[in-house]
Amino acid sequence: MSNYHLDLDLKELREAFNSGKTKESSWRISQLHGLLHILEDKENDISMALKKDLGKHHVEAYRDEIGTVVKSINNALANLKQWMAAKKTRLPIAAFPSSASLVPEPLGVVLIISSWNFPIGLSLEPLIGALAAGNAVVLKPSELAPTCSSLLAETIRDYLDNSAVKVIEGGSDQGEKLLQYKFDKIFFTGSTHVGRIVMSAAAQHLTPVTLELGGKCPAVVDSFSSSRDNNMAAKRVVWGKFGVCAGQACIGIDYVVTEKKYLFNLIGLLKRYIKQCYGDDPNGSHSICKIINKKHFSRLKTLLDEPSVKSSIVYGGSMDEQSLFIEPTILVDPPLDAAIMTEEIFGPLLPVITLESIEDSVNFISTRPSPLALYAFTENKNLQKRLVSETSSGSIMFNDAILQYAVDTLPFGGVGGSGFGRYHGKYSFDNFSHEKVIVMRSFLIDIWFRYPPWTNQKLQL
Ligand code: NAD
Repeated sequence: MSNYHLDLDLKELREAFNSGKTKESSWRISQLHGLLHILEDKENDISMALKKDLGKHHVEAYRDEIGTVVKSINNALANLKQWMAAKKTRLPIAAFPSSASLVPEPLGVVLIISSWNFPIGLSLEPLIGALAAGNAVVLKPSELAPTCSSLLAETIRDYLDNSAVKVIEGGSDQGEKLLQYKFDKIFFTGSTHVGRIVMSAAAQHLTPVTLELGGKCPAVVDSFSSSRDNNMAAKRVVWGKFGVCAGQACIGIDYVVTEKKYLFNLIGLLKRYIKQCYGDDPNGSHSICKIINKKHFSRLKTLLDEPSVKSSIVYGGSMDEQSLFIEPTILVDPPLDAAIMTEEIFGPLLPVITLESIEDSVNFISTRPSPLALYAFTENKNLQKRLVSETSSGSIMFNDAILQYAVDTLPFGGVGGSGFGRYHGKYSFDNFSHEKVIVMRSFLIDIWFRYPPWTNQKLQL
C-alpha cells in the first residue's frame, strides 16, 4: 500500500477514535459479535485457508484457530461490562475526605502485527482485546500465510466497522512503512530479530509495545513410578512437539532433557506414539502440518545436515521438499553448540539431551535464555520446586504442554528474550487499556500547613 493510502487510512482511524464511538460499550459488543460471525459463517473458508497455507487438518484448525478464538470472544462478551467498570480503591486516612477509582480507557489507534504459524488465532486473539478495550485497530497479518491474510482482510472489511478496524496486508516492507507512523500501542508477535526493529521504531514515538517472541522451550522428562504415567508423559511430549503445527509453535516443545538411565525407555515410547499418531509413513498422514515455505524448509534441513547432528538422528529424518514435509525426527545428544541447540528449531525435529541426574536439568535450563514456556514431566516434588524457584520462563507446566495457552484466566507472555507484556482474557483487555486514576476531593476540611510560606513551625507538626 502506498504512503498516500496509508496516510488516508490512518487519518480515518484516528478520526473514528476521536469521534468517541469506539469507547461505547455498544460499539465494542457489536465488533466482538462481528468477529464471532466471521468464525461462524466462514469456518469452512478459514479451515481451507489454513489447509492451503500450512496443511493444517480441519480438526487442528478448529482446535487452535477457531474454537479457541470463539471461546475467547464469548469470554470477552460475558465479562466486558465488568472489565469496563470503574474500580473503587482505598485511600489513606490522611487523604480524607476523598474517594478514588481506576477507570480503564482505550489507548487510541493500535497496531497488531502477527505471525504465520497461527495466522488466524494470533491475529484475532489480540484483536479481541484491542476491540474490547475500545481501540481503533490496524492489523497486519503475516505475508507467509497469504490465503489466511487475504481472508482476514476480506472478512474483517465485510463484518467489522471499517472506519475503525483495518487490515493492511504485506510483508516486511509494509511493516516498516507502518512502523513510521505514531500508534498508541504496538502488539507484535514474531521473531526476536523483528521484535528489536519494532521496539526501536516504537521508541521514536514513545509508543508502548508488547512483544510476543519465541525461544527454545525445554521439556524435562523424568521417569515415573508407574508405566501408565511414563506412557502418558511420552504421548504428551509427542503431541507437544509434533501435534501443534508440526513444531512450528512458539510454545511447542523445542527439546527434551532426560536422565541417561531413562533414555532407552523414553526413546522407545516416543517412537511408539509417533507411529500411533502419524502411522508408519507420516508423509501420507493428514495429521501433520507442512513446513510453511521453502526458506524454512531449507533452514530446518541445514540444522539437520550438519554432520555431527545428522549422526545423532535415532528416528525419522526424511524430508520431501516438493510437499514441504519433514518427518517427525528424534535426535539424541546433538552437540550443544550446534545451531539445532542454540537456535529456536520451529519444526518437527526433537533433540533429546541426556544428563547424569534429572536434577541437573535445573542448571541446564537456568544457564540458558528464559523460554516462553518450560515443561516438566515429573512426580519429583523437590525437582518441581527447584524448577519453579531456580529457573525463569513465561510459564511452567507440569506433566503436560501447551494447554496453558488456551486458558482465559491465565496471562500469556514471555520474559527476558521470549518477550514482555501479557494477554488473553482480561489480560488482553488490560494490555490495550490505560487504567486512569480518578481522585475526588472535597472542600470540607483543609490543612493550613500544606501551604507556603514554609516556617519551622510547620515542620514540627
Ligand atoms: P517474523 O518476525 O519474521 O514476522 C512477524 C511479523 O512481522 C510478520 O507479520 C512480518 O511481516 C512482520 N515483519 C517482518 N519484518 C518486519 C519489519 N522489518 N518491520 C515490521 N514488520 C515486519 O516472525 P515469523 O516468522 O512470522 O514468526 C516466527 C517467530 O515468531 C518465531 O520466533 C516464534 O517463536 C515467534 N512467535 C511467537 C509467538 C508468541 O506468542 N510468543 C507466537 C507465534 C510465533
